[in-house]
Amino acid sequence: MLSEREIIKLITGKTGAPRDDVALGIGDDAAVLQPRSGHELVVCADTLVAGVHFPDGTAPSAIGHKALAVNLSDLAAMGAEPGWALLALTLPEADEAWLREFATGFSELATRFEVMLVGGDTTRGPLTVSVTALGQVPAGGALRRAGARPGDALCVSGTLGDAALALAQWRAGGVRDVELAARLDLPEPRVALGLALRGIAHAAIDVSDGLLSDLRKLIEADGLGATVEIEQLPRSERFAASGGTTEMMLGGGDDYELLFALPAAALPGLAAHSVTRIGTVEAERGVRCVDGTGRPVKVTAAGYEHFG
Ligand code: ADP
Ligand code: MG
Repeated sequence: MLSEREIIKLITGKTGAPRDDVALGIGDDAAVLQPRSGHELVVCADTLVAGVHFPDGTAPSAIGHKALAVNLSDLAAMGAEPGWALLALTLPEADEAWLREFATGFSELATRFEVMLVGGDTTRGPLTVSVTALGQVPAGGALRRAGARPGDALCVSGTLGDAALALAQWRAGGVRDVELAARLDLPEPRVALGLALRGIAHAAIDVSDGLLSDLRKLIEADGLGATVEIEQLPRSERFAASGGTTEMMLGGGDDYELLFALPAAALPGLAAHSVTRIGTVEAERGVRCVDGTGRPVKVTAAGYEHFG
């Protein structure tokens, strides 16, 4: 068992990427940061609770990765460049091997995205990992949920439903597909795409609760609607080959892809990224799903909602 001091010491050895703009990191009462001039800070927080946001038995390195990844996904959806993170850890016991792996998963992702861990808090209780991430955008340049316009192309990055299928496989207790499990445990935040969308996308959101649920948040921000072409929804080969369903693509959570609205003419400029047009923003409120012939399809998947 480690003391709180020893826990902090262990974490201090795995703080991701060193940054010049951190005047004071872990060790004082608070961190001191120096954002670039002419930039605004973009700040978000997300909590992972054992048994709710990740299945019991998830590798500690995956928990460390995911706790940061979901926050970097929020920053990406704002078009922000990530820079700093805080980590509030609640642990039932101070297991050194667990902590080491956890910190390694966190730190590896942080290093890759040039994020530095600059502080946090450590308490005892049921396993809960809460991360606050900070990024920066040129003043006024953050992407928002509001801003979509009728006629905009509705696009999504990557593929949908892989994490939902992995979760279904885990619940069924059978064989878990490694590729799909990685989509659930080790989501890849779409940071580069978020930066590329600055000044191009009219509105953006990350897909964490399920495509339909997050699409509604996007269009309702402007009192608009959308049509979604079911056959255009991007799916991975593994997903298609392993019994993935339309409901999983529409309603499954944990995709951590970006959903955004932009003029169709801007799409070729995003050729370097994995982006699929899945529909169109419309003035008529509500979401309409259509099949390949344009006929309406009834959809039941509601998306994941806490307290639902
Ligand atoms: P305080 O009592 O002033 O809140 P602590 O003794 O809790 O400070 O923490 C000491 C230092 O260690 C602080 O800089 C704090 O930000 C950092 N710290 C504590 N827990 C964590 C953690 N889980 N991850 C990162 N930094 C942490
Ligand atoms: Mg203090």
